[in-house]
Amino acid sequence: MPEVVIIGGGVVGASVAYHLTERGCLDVLMLDREEMLGLGSTGKATGGVRAQFETDINIKLSLYSMDFFRDWDFDCEYDPKGYLFLATNNLHLEYLDRTGERQRELGYDGVHLLTQAEVAAMVPGVNCDDIVGGSFGPRDGFINPLAILEGFMVEASMSGAKVKTGTLVRAINVENGRVTGLHTSDGTLECDRVVLCSGAWARHLAATAGIDLPVEPQRRQIVWAKAAKALPPDLPMVIDLKDGFHFRPARDFHVAADTGDGRDVLFAYADPDEPPGFSTEFDDAFLDKVGEKAAHRAPFLNGAQIVYEKCRAGLYENSPDHHAILGGCEVEGLYFANGFSGHGVMHSPATGRALAEIILDGESSFLDVSSLHIDRFANGELLHETAFI
Ligand SMILES: Cc1cc2nc3c(=O)[nH]c(=O)nc-3n(C[C@H](O)[C@H](O)[C@H](O)COP(=O)(O)OP(=O)(O)OC[C@H]3O[C@@H](n4cnc5c(N)ncnc54)[C@H](O)[C@@H]3O)c2cc1C
Repeated sequence: MPEVVIIGGGVVGASVAYHLTERGCLDVLMLDREEMLGLGSTGKATGGVRAQFETDINIKLSLYSMDFFRDWDFDCEYDPKGYLFLATNNLHLEYLDRTGERQRELGYDGVHLLTQAEVAAMVPGVNCDDIVGGSFGPRDGFINPLAILEGFMVEASMSGAKVKTGTLVRAINVENGRVTGLHTSDGTLECDRVVLCSGAWARHLAATAGIDLPVEPQRRQIVWAKAAKALPPDLPMVIDLKDGFHFRPARDFHVAADTGDGRDVLFAYADPDEPPGFSTEFDDAFLDKVGEKAAHRAPFLNGAQIVYEKCRAGLYENSPDHHAILGGCEVEGLYFANGFSGHGVMHSPATGRALAEIILDGESSFLDVSSLHIDRFANGELLHETAFI
């Protein structure tokens, strides 16, 4: 019987496997229903990382993870080009000022406000007419989600972790309040410790164990285009706080080296009309909606050519307060690493370490993640983050 079974071979399950084996818990088995790892949301992610958040827990998860990406001996392509948040009214600017102060208190050196003129100088071609200022986080930036997944799995596998792809987990078996095994497409697997890392698809599996895990799938679409001219050098991730419209230089994660000509750009926004659901079809109607926002904020994108074959859609795994759900629950031996609400790649290092410590020691001591326990929903202790994009 494996010591720990991880359901889901995305970046989060991979990080849990890595951190468990790093701690000497070597008999780890990862199951995924697909024939390859990374085919869930991880393979669809934009690859952004930021510590410009509002809540202490999100800031701390990010600062820890950015240090990890920077110091890791595996190259995960961490590229701290920064995140630039744009404010179009004083309320948003005050929000950036207040949250920036808290980020600095928690150790994020260098995050600072920008004037309208400084924004215009940082991103030539952006429409600054209605902008009152911005905030720039110099350690925020870009990461390669599939490289991170690979780095975790290479090291976990070398330490003894096993992976079984093509195995669908149908149910978590529970007797007398504790996990006894899994019902899978390959039969029954006995085990007494299970980590649910199945992303947007976690809720129904948790329900088979009698737990209501409030994770809702929601489609997110991204447009890939070629701008008429090369993008400004060192372009950061640029995000309009008003509507979540954002753009960044595009990087092809599926090829060994970036062979682009500097014109590839990704842009998107959080469509408020997108209902919950499991569709991952890219809908051409999104092009008009996001195109309108791009025309206003980033007129340098006018005339950009859409690269249709690279436009994509994946699933966010939203929790009610847009924060992760980490840790155990009332079923002994069942642990959750879910509900990242669009931040699972950037928070994967801290998440994996927290889960390993919770499973092996009973609590996460390097970082207190107790505010992310599933009980917060029943206890009415929801967290509040304004700028989820
Ligand atoms: C368009 C888009 C952009 C994003 N941009 C960013 C970003 O810039 N930065 C960031 O940090 N995050 C981003 N995210 C969010 C990020 O992709 C996710 O939070 C993260 O990938 C979650 O990882 P995971 O391992 O939990 O889930 P997944 O990668 O979805 O992995 C879950 C795995 O579970 C498997 N599985 C599911 N059900 C079962 C079952 N019953 N049996 C066996 N296996 C099962 C699936 O096959 C899948 O491989 C983005 C997401 C989208 C869609």
